[in-house]
Amino acid sequence: MKIMKIDKQDWPDGLKRSRASYRLIGPAKGENDDFAGFRELAKDEVPDLAATDTVLSPKSIVYPQSEVIFEYTTDKKSEDCNLLNRPEKEYSPMAVIGIRPYDAAAFLLVKKNFDTPEFRDPYWCDAYEACTFVGLAVNEPLGTDFSTSTGSGPFCEKGLDVLLVDMADHYLAKVITDKGAAYLKAAGWDSQADNDSARKQIEAKKAEADTRISSTVAFDKIGQKSILELYNADFWEDVAFACINCGTCTYLCPTCWCFDIQDETHGRKGQRFKNWDTCMEPLFSLHGSGHNPRGTKVMRVRQRFMHKLKYFLDKYDDGIMCVGCGRCVRACPVNIDIRRVCDLMNNYGPDPDACAVSD
Ligand code: SF4
Ligand code: SF4
Repeated sequence: MKIMKIDKQDWPDGLKRSRASYRLIGPAKGENDDFAGFRELAKDEVPDLAATDTVLSPKSIVYPQSEVIFEYTTDKKSEDCNLLNRPEKEYSPMAVIGIRPYDAAAFLLVKKNFDTPEFRDPYWCDAYEACTFVGLAVNEPLGTDFSTSTGSGPFCEKGLDVLLVDMADHYLAKVITDKGAAYLKAAGWDSQADNDSARKQIEAKKAEADTRISSTVAFDKIGQKSILELYNADFWEDVAFACINCGTCTYLCPTCWCFDIQDETHGRKGQRFKNWDTCMEPLFSLHGSGHNPRGTKVMRVRQRFMHKLKYFLDKYDDGIMCVGCGRCVRACPVNIDIRRVCDLMNNYGPDPDACAVSD
C-alpha cells in the first residue's frame, strides 16, 4: 500500500487539476449558511478542512434529502403517456474530500439496506459508486466521539479510497483502493513518501488519537438477549421521557435511512419523490386506516434504539447501526445519549455469561 506526500502548498493546485476528471465535494460554509456541510464545491472553492466535523453528516451526497425517483404523464398526446421515466441526473465521478473515516464507514452500513442481493436502489447505488472517498483522519477527536468502540475509529480505513493524515505542513496520503490511486494521479500528487517512515508516523498519530477517545459503548451482550426482553424493558419510559420527537438525531445521523414516498401531480404530469423521514415522527408509521402501531412517544424512541442496537445487530451480525460519530449526542436538545441507552440495553436483565452457583 503506497503512501504519498502532499505538500500543503500544492494542495489547491492539485484539487484544481483533479477537476478535469472529478466534481469536488467537500465541507464548506456559504455566506448564508448557518453551518458548514458537505456539498459540491463551486469552481475555485476549496474544501474547508477545519470544518469536517459537520453538524449534518455527508449522507446527502449519496442520499439527497429530497429526490425525484420518476416522472410520468397521463397525457394521451405524449409518446411517453403512462410510462415512468427516471429523471436524468449526473453520476459523473465525484471526489469527496475531507470526509471523516466514521462517515465513510457509515455508508457501508447503509449499503446493507440499499444494495442487497435481492434489491438494488439505483439512486443510492449509482451515486455511491460515483464517489471516491478521500478521508481526513481525526487527529483530535471530539469529546463525544466513541467511534473506536463501534468498529470504526479516527483512522479507520473502511469505506475510504484514500486516508489523508494532517502532518502540519503536509499530508500523508495512504492509498487504499485503485479508485483512490486514480484520484491522486488526476490531482498530480505523485511524490511517494518513504513508506516505512510514513507508516510509523501514521501509526503514532493513530495511537495518539485513539488514546484521546475516552468515550465508549459496549454491546457484547445485546445479541444474546431476546428481542422481547429488551422490547419490554422497564427503562424505555425513562429514556423517552424528555424526548420532543424533533427528529434531529435521525436527520443528522450518517446511518439513518428512513424515507417517505410522496407523489406530486400538476395537471396530467406527476413526479414521485423520495424524501428523508424519521421514525421519531408519529406520521411516519400512521396507517391509512388511522391505526398507528407506534402511536406513542415511548414506542418511537424505543424503535430508534432497538433498530440501531438490536435489530440491525441480529440481522447482519456485523455490529450496531452506529459509527460513534457523536452527532446525535451533541445535537439532541434534551440530552438523550445513545451511549447511555446502549449501556442500559447491554446490562439489562440477568448476565447471560454469569455462571449459576448451586449448593
Ligand atoms: S434529538 Fe433528542 S429530542 Fe429530538 S427526537 Fe432525537 S432523541 Fe428526541
Ligand atoms: S446514532 Fe448518533 S453517534 Fe451513532 S452514527 Fe448516528 S448520529 Fe452518530
